[in-house]
Amino acid sequence: MKDRLRIHAIDADFDGGNIVVEDVAGTRARLKIRRDSRAPWAQWFHFVVRGDPGALCELQIVNAAECTYPDGWASYRACVSEDGRHWVRAETRYVAGVLSIHHQLTGAAVEVAYFAPYGLDAHARLLDHGAARGGRHQLALTPTGRAIERLVFGQGDFRMWLLGRQHPGEPMASWWMEGAVARLSEMTTQRADLFERASISVVPLVNPDGVVLGNLRANAAGRDLNREWNDPHRLEAPEVAGLLDEMGRWGADLVLDVHGDECVPHVFIDSRPASPYPETAQRQADGAKRFERLLQARNSAFQTAVGYPEDYAGDGAVGMCARAVSARFGAVGMTLEMPFSRSLEAPDFVADWSPQACIQLGRDCIDSLAAWMNHDP
Ligand SMILES: [Zn+2]
Repeated sequence: MKDRLRIHAIDADFDGGNIVVEDVAGTRARLKIRRDSRAPWAQWFHFVVRGDPGALCELQIVNAAECTYPDGWASYRACVSEDGRHWVRAETRYVAGVLSIHHQLTGAAVEVAYFAPYGLDAHARLLDHGAARGGRHQLALTPTGRAIERLVFGQGDFRMWLLGRQHPGEPMASWWMEGAVARLSEMTTQRADLFERASISVVPLVNPDGVVLGNLRANAAGRDLNREWNDPHRLEAPEVAGLLDEMGRWGADLVLDVHGDECVPHVFIDSRPASPYPETAQRQADGAKRFERLLQARNSAFQTAVGYPEDYAGDGAVGMCARAVSARFGAVGMTLEMPFSRSLEAPDFVADWSPQACIQLGRDCIDSLAAWMNHDP
């Protein structure tokens, strides 16, 4: 009798992995997303499925409705890769609270993830690449002792910060960083005006513990770092405390904090001028608007019509990085959001929002910052 094709094993026992296997029967698996360490959030998943080539796998995430952003599943397709490098989207359905991912194995294994992952090895290569052209410094240590590292480009007086991956489950921020660091590195060979006028501090990975733990939002102590910027907990959020200390010493005139949004199918910037001084608040508002115009002229996915809800205050929004640095330092504070699903302005029907799109957006943001410093309208 001919053997039936089947799934042999499902494994998330690696850095960044997240899935709990309930049961496997033939080509169907019932799975659950594990909550963040010491925290209530859940949405990130990353696991490997091994089975017979040709097997039509149905991977059911049965607790999808209990995740943090269930509204995000309706228009979402899971990311799959059989070589760990090229990621495409799998047929995915969200019905009756279950997210079903369908994939036919061509080889013996497939990686499945919420978004194309970007782990510590990739970050180490990114830092090495950036350090060949810029300065490299250690900024702070996480609660488990991992280093938060920073690259510095340029020698101008205007101090910019580019931050990525406060939320570990948003690896689009890391792909964005890859584009930004590549563009900054190229510009060092072009005697760019940007570097005469500005110094740019790039922190590609603010929450390495969360990345290793396979979390959506939390660091190792269970903190959402992007709610800690108003008054960071020294022991449980030393990542933010260390960054704020250095911003105070070095200066912070513009901060761009890069994220992914689970529910909004658009690329957008959220900026809320928060300086108590009206002149500064006006300068912040004008500065953010001008950056948005410059970016929209360069990148077809970026738009300004849709963003967070106008009244968005959220839990502890006052502790969001962009808002807190705007209030504290008078900086132009901007949160950049990218989608998990397809960008409606620049739809890619194969890959949806892709690593390549993130890289291009990172490059375009650097060119927009250069134009911004050049006082282009
Ligand atoms: Zn985020």
